[in-house]
Amino acid sequence: MELAPSRDLCANPKHPYSRALLDSVPVADPENIKQVSLEGEVPSPLNPPSGCTFHPRCRMRKPECGIEVPLMREISPGHFVTCILYN
Ligand code: SF4
Repeated sequence: MELAPSRDLCANPKHPYSRALLDSVPVADPENIKQVSLEGEVPSPLNPPSGCTFHPRCRMRKPECGIEVPLMREISPGHFVTCILYN
């Protein structure tokens, strides 16, 4: 879903799944806890969702996400994202 040098990806995640993953990293500061969770169930790989396979759980989905299969695009040198938000 997203491919970039690790520093770039961690500092500037673009794909909604990358953002959700990084937001879920535990922090040792109880004053700064983010409560981020993905809704829904992980889909079966035997019956994946149409369009973007992440769309049932994506907080940023658009109507076309269930229809179009997003292509991976280079949004900056060496940073690739598979999401219609970056078409
Ligand atoms: S293509 Fe749509 S559903 Fe998939 S990650 Fe991007 S916004 Fe979310």
